Amino acid sequence: MSAVLPNYEVLALRFAHAEGRSAKQNFLMDAHDLPTAMAFYVWAIRDLDRVIVVDTGFSAAAAQKRGRDFLHQPAEVLAMAGIDAAQVGDAVITHLHWDHSGNMGMLPRATFHLQDTEMAYATGRRMGHPFFGGSNQIEDVITMVRNVYAGRVCFHDGFGNIAPGVTLHHIGGHTDGTQVVRVHTARGWIVLASDAAHYWANLRDRNPFPRVSDIGKTIDGFRLVEEMVESIDHIIPGHDPAVLTRFPRLGEHQDIVRLDLAPTL
Ligand SMILES: [Zn+2]
Repeated sequence: MSAVLPNYEVLALRFAHAEGRSAKQNFLMDAHDLPTAMAFYVWAIRDLDRVIVVDTGFSAAAAQKRGRDFLHQPAEVLAMAGIDAAQVGDAVITHLHWDHSGNMGMLPRATFHLQDTEMAYATGRRMGHPFFGGSNQIEDVITMVRNVYAGRVCFHDGFGNIAPGVTLHHIGGHTDGTQVVRVHTARGWIVLASDAAHYWANLRDRNPFPRVSDIGKTIDGFRLVEEMVESIDHIIPGHDPAVLTRFPRLGEHQDIVRLDLAPTL
């Protein structure tokens, strides 16, 4: 079956980073020697027929408010890879946290692919507690509600097939509706794990990121993600700075790497 599937080019595009976090903010259990820096990415999947953007990052204003180092507007870093955000037809929102769903306005023609459970979670009872609601920007959630009413949201209940060789899988855990994207490439299936695994170390050590809706589902999710691919190098964590150093660059762009090629480190 996989012989007939397209081999997509898949990009991680870094638009921001943060230093000065403690490892305890990134790992629930012993975090000795584990990473503290955090990278922020959007991702793109493309072949000659289509471009799919995964997540929309955040704005310069949101970066300032939350003390992150802003490197590029997400639309600009996409443009550096030759992608015109204004023309993109499909975008996956892995979950509605502020660092993944800001800037939806940069994709005026896109249909947004979202899990049913994420919309319910982001507009439901947990959001009254800062531990949960503090990770969302209410304006982004309202933008998504507006997109729903505009007929621009394609809801998925668990599994979704959005193009040949591009599927969505509900994981939950981090937020109730966190989803990952499985993509067929020349090196086999890869998974854009987004915040189902912030760092490879979360996955490898079964040591979850602390800010989660459900710790049990987060830990179960590590196994679900692993079952979708042949090795941990085929899983792309959502915030690991090592993504940028392990994979080959797209041309000379220091903030854009090719995930469809084998890692060099
Ligand atoms: Zn995140």
